[in-house]
Amino acid sequence: QRALGSLGKSRAKFISAEEKTGVTFADFAGQEYIKRELQEIVRILKNDEEFQNKGIYCPKGVLLHGPPGTGKTLLAKAIAGEAGLPFFAANGTDFVEMFVGVAASRVKDLFSSARSYAPSIIFIDEIDAIGSKRGGPDIGGGGAEREQGLLQILTEMDGFKVSTSQVLVIGATNRLDILDPALLRKGRFDKIIRVGLPSKDGRFAILKVHARNKYFRSEGEKDILLQEIAELTEDFTGAELQNILNEAGILTARKDLDYIGREELLEALKRQKGTFETGQEDSTEVPEELKLRLAYREAAVAILACYFPDPYRPFAETEINSIRNQPNLRYTETLGRVFKRKVDYVNSIVRSCAPRVIEEEIFGVDNLCWISAKATLEASKLAELLILQTGMTAFGKAYYRYQNDLVPNLAAKLQALRDEYMRFSVEKCASVLREYRPAVENITDVLLEKGEIKADEILDIYNSSPRIPQPAVSP
Ligand code: ADP
Repeated sequence: QRALGSLGKSRAKFISAEEKTGVTFADFAGQEYIKRELQEIVRILKNDEEFQNKGIYCPKGVLLHGPPGTGKTLLAKAIAGEAGLPFFAANGTDFVEMFVGVAASRVKDLFSSARSYAPSIIFIDEIDAIGSKRGGPDIGGGGAEREQGLLQILTEMDGFKVSTSQVLVIGATNRLDILDPALLRKGRFDKIIRVGLPSKDGRFAILKVHARNKYFRSEGEKDILLQEIAELTEDFTGAELQNILNEAGILTARKDLDYIGREELLEALKRQKGTFETGQEDSTEVPEELKLRLAYREAAVAILACYFPDPYRPFAETEINSIRNQPNLRYTETLGRVFKRKVDYVNSIVRSCAPRVIEEEIFGVDNLCWISAKATLEASKLAELLILQTGMTAFGKAYYRYQNDLVPNLAAKLQALRDEYMRFSVEKCASVLREYRPAVENITDVLLEKGEIKADEILDIYNSSPRIPQPAVSP
């Protein structure tokens, strides 16, 4: 347990000049202009006097901002490593404590330590934790306390003179928008550098850095493979690219291979994409059996959407790659619902039956699964809505609430009428799907092969596939 006496002491990690951070600018790849700017700052820091004679001073603060994993911490360490200066690494959250006065005294403690080692570097990661706008909503609590800490930072940065005992403060944040503007004023963080996502060339360069200690069959093959990965990794951060190479290394070792090959890299990329997209450790693949069911379902829904187009919600595309975002045809922009006729309601009930009907048709009534359960529920609800709330059915012109005691035998009457609509809808839906069975199969094939299909292709298949005539369905 931490002694109360140390509460006001800074928790910053200290790396002396002799220990070195072990990081240099060579470790940061891509975005060369950032390196050039920071290299200049390092030169000024190192030859303090020479530059001072020319009237060039080091900025007091450098603020690095950009998404997490883009190398902000790496850059701060590189500055310290290159300049050979003592390095104090803190985190904005270190200062925030519910006890009065602690934040301010921790800041004071950090700056006075840094000053006693000057020239030196203070790095405050996640500076937004202490440096967000004053007077804003106090989300985490301890707002007044935090503001004291921020004020102390401002005071400290204003306090030290430029020419002597230089302490360079480097801040990092991915929330520039919430920082208190006072921090960004001249004489505080007067150099603001955006560290963004790397370009394709940048990604290649980053991959090269992290491939330095990995085995490839040859330098030539390494370059070709890394180029390919760089092409496939738009929107990836440096940290994610590093993970891909590490993962590929692990896979290679697991397979007892001597060199990282294309297969391992692509597999690692796939895994990283999984974590990248879902934010979870492992990606959930859709099992084959489920894929088949999803494909048939989407195909059936697509055919019904062609047969009874919804004028207000034209469909655009569908896919079967993820269970999570159950697509059921994505629709394009919805028009305002100006008027909706009874036939539109009935058609929408028929459309809603498609998942249930096709599943029974293909897999048999004993092999239904949860995929179609939701569809049945939705269709019944639509039927009830039509009967109870629109006044468009034989049920009459009144608006009924679903309460047994208001109308004698309401439940029974409703049930009978709803069953009638459901019977018709299911029969109609089955008839359409039988008539268009070849088109259903064709769309299913495309979905299984490519994982997705767009509206144009669906319409092509719908219009060009042979049809199997069916007897009329009577309402
Ligand atoms: P941030 O501080 O922006 O969240 P980090 O500096 O912690 O990101 O990045 C994590 C790791 O990702 C780094 O230690 C480094 O290995 C790798 N990395 C990120 N960006 C780059 C880059 N531009 N060049 C080389 N490596 C990078």
